[in-house]
Amino acid sequence: MGLGANQGDARAALDEALRRLGELPGVHVAAVSPCYVTEPQDKADQPWFHNRVAALDLGPSWTPESLLGALQDVEAAMGRPSQGQRERFGPRPIDLDLLLFGTTLRDTDVLTLPHPRMRQRAFVLVPLGDIAPALVFPDGEGIGAALTKIPFKIEGNSIFQGP
Ligand code: ADP
Ligand code: MG
Repeated sequence: MGLGANQGDARAALDEALRRLGELPGVHVAAVSPCYVTEPQDKADQPWFHNRVAALDLGPSWTPESLLGALQDVEAAMGRPSQGQRERFGPRPIDLDLLLFGTTLRDTDVLTLPHPRMRQRAFVLVPLGDIAPALVFPDGEGIGAALTKIPFKIEGNSIFQGP
């Protein structure tokens, strides 16, 4: 899953979200990437983001839909306004995205898997590569190959990929 924030103490928000996720029954946070500071991609006029990617080990009762619901519950508990009350791609105190759920494919009104925009986003692919360098997308493409297709620059822990 992917974590992002660009309001308040964004770095602390990512830690808090991970702590809350680890307290859910049957959820173990197995790996967490370093934290990157990233240029806003979809809408420029807002603070830079903090982003990380985490791998979760899940008990057998979790489904992609129940996990998405749990991510949205954590977003709400951490003060993210409900959909309809917020600007798309605008600033947010916390954003939790389901990137992949094993090899599951989904394309419904509520959930698309893999996450539809993840391969265009260096702020997802770079930290994902840190914790899962051998990961291959359902169509066979690896993370390194996906990264060669998008323009971005990385300096230290800063990722530049503007709109
Ligand atoms: P974004 O994360 O793309 O900036 P939002 O968090 O505001 O945008 O979007 C959440 C919406 O996207 C929800 O309505 C949710 O149902 C939908 N959605 C579809 N697929 C996914 C996914 N893989 N992970 C998270 N949300 C998803
Ligand atoms: Mg989201």
